[in-house]
Amino acid sequence: MNIQMVDLKGQYKKIQEEVDQAVLEVIRSAAFINGPTVKSFQANLEQYLGAKHVIPCANGTDALQIAFMALGLKPGDEVIVPAFTYVATAEVIALLRLKPIMVDVDPDTFNITADIIEAAVTPNTKAVVPVNLFGQSCDMEPIMEVAKQHNLYVVEDNAQAIGADYTFSDGHSQKTGTIGHIGCTSFYPSKNLGAYGDGGAIYTNDDDLASMLRMMANHGQNKRYYHAHVGVNSRLDSIQAAILDIKLRHLDAYAETRRAAAAHYDQAFANMEQLVVPVRQHNSTHVFHQYTLKVKDGRRDELQAYLKEKGLPSMIYYPVPLYEQEAYKGLSDRQVDSLPVTDQLCKDVISLAMHSELNQEQLEHITETVKSFWK
Ligand SMILES: *Cc1c(COP(=O)(O)O)cnc(C)c1O
Repeated sequence: MNIQMVDLKGQYKKIQEEVDQAVLEVIRSAAFINGPTVKSFQANLEQYLGAKHVIPCANGTDALQIAFMALGLKPGDEVIVPAFTYVATAEVIALLRLKPIMVDVDPDTFNITADIIEAAVTPNTKAVVPVNLFGQSCDMEPIMEVAKQHNLYVVEDNAQAIGADYTFSDGHSQKTGTIGHIGCTSFYPSKNLGAYGDGGAIYTNDDDLASMLRMMANHGQNKRYYHAHVGVNSRLDSIQAAILDIKLRHLDAYAETRRAAAAHYDQAFANMEQLVVPVRQHNSTHVFHQYTLKVKDGRRDELQAYLKEKGLPSMIYYPVPLYEQEAYKGLSDRQVDSLPVTDQLCKDVISLAMHSELNQEQLEHITETVKSFWK
């Protein structure tokens, strides 16, 4: 049985005709940059997210960098980030000579919380990056309250959770990434809304921030050949936009099949005391960018080797805490020596195959193989 972490070919086959036609149309039109497909995708994504402004860009890392450029922070300003995330989250902060302040995460949801943020705030703290890790929202309502109290910008790293909904205590829901001042996402092929190459987007409901973000992504230009700021060149190309526009229509259905796969895993592992299945944030839906288990008794690496031997894929997101990465050691004068939850997660977590094309037979084979490790 051929099982992959992500099955992009299988997903493509189901929309092949539509995608091929759309790509061919872009090529024939030769509107490769800022063509009508970019505008159409932008408008459709705004509508899907309920966001006032979507600014497409070249990738998720650029989205984060442009977000921080638009906020106009000064070198040395502190930005709170989780130590349990993909490197891009902290990388752009360091690149801009801001100070990434790495904090621990909640052991159940793997996300940062309002309490963790509050404990790390100093008079130099200017922003915080809640990363909606593995496909569910951080608990944003208390995070927005703490941010308001301390005058912090909130930049959501929504690269893994596009399409998830967060529900506030008054009962209204919003899409992840549209709750903070700025949201950033990635269309890297294996993300939930994946392009056939690189892509990213920034979202905001703030008109002033939107025009700053647009300027920063386009050479700091406010009028053609007039540059008000030092910006970057970061664009989503028309071919990727055409593909994303088609895939956006399937995003909720993709999330539904991911959730069904997660439910199958949950049920199969429910009575396994050696494993902890993903804990759901109570006021967020989960779009399962990853299905991530915690393995008890320090046997994670053994389990992974066993699965590999049986021909099953698995991944470790993430094996090393950010603060232990060579490039990030000593970067901050508030260097941490240990973040107990992050340290433990890096030793215990394992992600199983998760995509929109997993069938019942494959899921059963995966769960039976995982369980047989302890037999
Ligand atoms: C994928 C990802 C990014 C970066 O996206 P790219 O498009 O690869 O630049 C940033 N943050 C998180 C949490 C991600 O998963």
